[in-house]
Amino acid sequence: MNQAVTRATFDQVMVQTYQPAGFIPVRGAGSRVWDQDGREFIDFAGGIAVNALGHCHPELQAALAEQAGKLWHISNVFTNEPALRLASKLTELTFADRAFFCNSGAEANEAALKLARKYARDHFGAEKNRIVACDNSFHGRTLFTVSVGGQPKYNQDFAPLPEAIAHAPYNDIEALERLVDAHTCAVILEPVQGEGGVLAADPAFLLRARELCDRHGALLIFDEVQTGVGRTGSLYAYMQTDVVPDILTSAKSLGGGFPIGAMLTRDAIAASFTPGSHGTTYGGNPLACAVALRVLEIVSRPEVLAGIQDRHGRLVAGLSALGDKYGLFKEIRGKGLLLGCELQGKQAGAARVVLHAAEAEGLMLLQAGPNVVRLAPSLLIEHQDIEEGLSRLDRALAHIA
Ligand SMILES: *Cc1c(COP(=O)(O)O)cnc(C)c1O
Repeated sequence: MNQAVTRATFDQVMVQTYQPAGFIPVRGAGSRVWDQDGREFIDFAGGIAVNALGHCHPELQAALAEQAGKLWHISNVFTNEPALRLASKLTELTFADRAFFCNSGAEANEAALKLARKYARDHFGAEKNRIVACDNSFHGRTLFTVSVGGQPKYNQDFAPLPEAIAHAPYNDIEALERLVDAHTCAVILEPVQGEGGVLAADPAFLLRARELCDRHGALLIFDEVQTGVGRTGSLYAYMQTDVVPDILTSAKSLGGGFPIGAMLTRDAIAASFTPGSHGTTYGGNPLACAVALRVLEIVSRPEVLAGIQDRHGRLVAGLSALGDKYGLFKEIRGKGLLLGCELQGKQAGAARVVLHAAEAEGLMLLQAGPNVVRLAPSLLIEHQDIEEGLSRLDRALAHIA
């Protein structure tokens, strides 16, 4: 039978890789969540940019239930209809000709980086193997992706690390020019640094990255794990820029809460992966692909994409008003429904304090580093939930101001 579990159980039986909140959510609907005691929360966190359509969206429940009655898993020894439909949809909607499926953002980036190394080796030789990334970026937690991420706090304890990886400060065009050369096989960038503090790339930085890659025969990889699937107001963030990457990685919102990752690329690059080059047991799992297909169908509806800008406007206006009222926010930034409030003054570096105060008022928020309060709510969040969340944040800020 079901054993009673509490937050204390976490400290007893879980590896302590996280420091979760003091309550345990048990149920969600749209942008509201309830805990074990029936306390209600407004969800501005969206499962860290995963619950793009909120909790338990009826169309996603239906897609999952329908597939659950047909076929759960079949392995890559066989292909399956949901995976083929999802790959067809992704290639129809983006620059890409082909998709590789996996289970997370880190795995999508792992595939992208391995493909870039192999493509360069196939076409230019083994010497062309260097990867250029940005300081303070986040690409996942595998050894390769923490090395590429360039945040010592995530990789310094795990040496020896994979080699031939260099980092430029984000948006520093001159540093990028110094690092990218004939030995570079790939440049990997987040169009908006998510974990790094909700910082958007300058259009000129992206353009220069594209030019440098073209000049030196390197591949441009966009990590859209956080920015993808409507988050910034277009299906993928690159669609709002003048730059098209060679490889794009997607995860988080793609499954709307069901684990899936995807690496997308063009024919000529995909050709460097041949049978046996790479793989994963669960990649292209029918349940995950059936749900992701429905997520993409819903997010690409014009009214959903248009609604993101409207919600962005409401949230930014409300957050700016609170910033003025309490003088706590230095800047409110971000795109679409990926927003960051940089703290200043007495609260500088205290994003965690804001998160705790919000929790006490029934509001789920995120942080992006110690100094930025991050919001990544459902793309479908109702106006009344935005208003209610903002008034809870108002009360939380009143406590700490
Ligand atoms: C979350 C994230 C990842 C890692 O995704 P996982 O599913 O946790 O492996 C990679 N890149 C970016 C930009 C992310 O935000």
